[in-house]
Amino acid sequence: MTTLQQIELTCPVCETRFRSQAVVSTNSFGGKRTDFHERAAGTQPLPYLVHMCSRCGYAGSEKDFTEEAEITPTLREHVWNELAPKLHQSVLWHQQHGAQGGQGSAAQASLLGNGQGASSGAGASSSSGGQTGTTGATGAVAAMVTVPGSEKYEAAARVAEWAGAEPRQVADLLLRAAWCCVDEGDVEAERYFRRRAAWAFEQALSAYDGVAREERAVLTYLVGELWRRVGDHRQARGWFEQVPHEITEAHSQQWVLDASRQQKDAPREWFG
Ligand SMILES: [Zn+2]
Repeated sequence: MTTLQQIELTCPVCETRFRSQAVVSTNSFGGKRTDFHERAAGTQPLPYLVHMCSRCGYAGSEKDFTEEAEITPTLREHVWNELAPKLHQSVLWHQQHGAQGGQGSAAQASLLGNGQGASSGAGASSSSGGQTGTTGATGAVAAMVTVPGSEKYEAAARVAEWAGAEPRQVADLLLRAAWCCVDEGDVEAERYFRRRAAWAFEQALSAYDGVAREERAVLTYLVGELWRRVGDHRQARGWFEQVPHEITEAHSQQWVLDASRQQKDAPREWFG
């Protein structure tokens, strides 16, 4: 089973302290899909491996909320201008549609907090040090954000792009967004994120040194599998057929070759 624990994080963009849930332990007893989506028995851990500030919408892993996070003025401005408004819309939408069942009051609380933050933050985004909000200043802890995992990963992918991360890293976050959509039961959003993940992996593969030599075969397979799951069988076939040319070590990579043949000719949804 997956064990979660409540943690407190401080947003490096707006300095709000907020609560989030993190994974203490998990398992892989739920099997692995042929797009490497590993499943846990019980609660799926994915949505809790990414966190989002309930005031400005900045998102990332726990590490992105430490001193290690480098927040440039441009990144800060993007967060206030693009992620903050999106967060407010999302909280409002989920509140109205009751998608987060029973967490309406938390959504309400964070919405109120955010509404305030966005207006002062957006105006102050080009001046220095203007974003220290009331929440951070008083030491209070903001309510937990109630947006789904896919939206948190999408925001984290944007933050990674603005921070100049490698396409490979952005692709991983988009892939996780797609995986979250599976559990959220949103087929259309799942396809959307699979497409974006495929493009990002393609970009990584086409860049010089974008992907380690020994990883190219498996990522080439993955791009094929993403297109297959989107329903674009022509593109899927092209990528699966490319896999043999990317093998660097015949013995240890035999399984990639086998998987690409299988997914091309008689696809399966699960490994094993
Ligand atoms: Zn923030």
